[in-house]
Amino acid sequence: MPQPKNAMEIFQLLDKSNCLECGEKTCLAFSGAVFKGKRQLKECPKLDPEIIERFSGGPEDQNAVEQNRDAYLEKLKNEIANLDLSKAAKRIGARFSDDKLTIKVLGKNFSVDAKGNFSTDIHINPWVAVPFLNYVFYGKGVPVSGNWVSFRELKHGKEQYPLFQKRCEEPLKRVADIYTDLFDDMVHILSGKEVEKQFESDISVVLYPLPKVPVMVCYWLPEDGLESSLNIFFDQTADENLDIGSVFTLGVGLTQMFEKIAQRHGFPQSVIS
Ligand code: SF4
Repeated sequence: MPQPKNAMEIFQLLDKSNCLECGEKTCLAFSGAVFKGKRQLKECPKLDPEIIERFSGGPEDQNAVEQNRDAYLEKLKNEIANLDLSKAAKRIGARFSDDKLTIKVLGKNFSVDAKGNFSTDIHINPWVAVPFLNYVFYGKGVPVSGNWVSFRELKHGKEQYPLFQKRCEEPLKRVADIYTDLFDDMVHILSGKEVEKQFESDISVVLYPLPKVPVMVCYWLPEDGLESSLNIFFDQTADENLDIGSVFTLGVGLTQMFEKIAQRHGFPQSVIS
């Protein structure tokens, strides 16, 4: 397990929002406390479990990490009562009716009411619910620009990009290499859109996990002795509508969903991972 050499290395892992959720005044103060052993990385609820696991613990920490994430989700749901949902809907361009704020998540309606209750046709799991609520709380409603950038080009994305590659781009490429229906599933099951081929790829599909945070998956087939490759792109405004931790979580969640779909079609875990 890699050990951070100083507090700055820990700071680079955080989303730097100074949100106070951990009880420290700043992310920098939290980094110093972790480095001195007074706090643990898992006490920052905005950190993705993958990052926590990589830097601070083995399987025995996983339950604590999941409990922490579930507690953070509950906290966000409770805080909805303090948010003016009708104003939030205007800010992010959502619909507000029957006291519910509604947006499309992967093509399906996803609503929350003032008590934090969700209603939707899709399966609710933390990888969707936490980014959804962060989008409602903090999204600036900046219109999509149409300029695609890599995760590492988003604000604070550079430090987490090696892990994003490992947890999202590499496993999704392995699925695309063997499961030929992957991109059809993206279009038909998740209401994605095949778009004009970008960056000279062989296929480009855009998904909408959140309306103003589109995700483009580009795949290059193997050619002339070169391996296939796959990259995930975001609109350059993504970091204004969603914190980087939630962008990471969406990427990991989508990847894990496609790994499960491939397994259901008979491709064993050992082939995918
Ligand atoms: S909870 Fe995490 S993101 Fe928020 S202030 Fe603490 S360290 Fe920073």
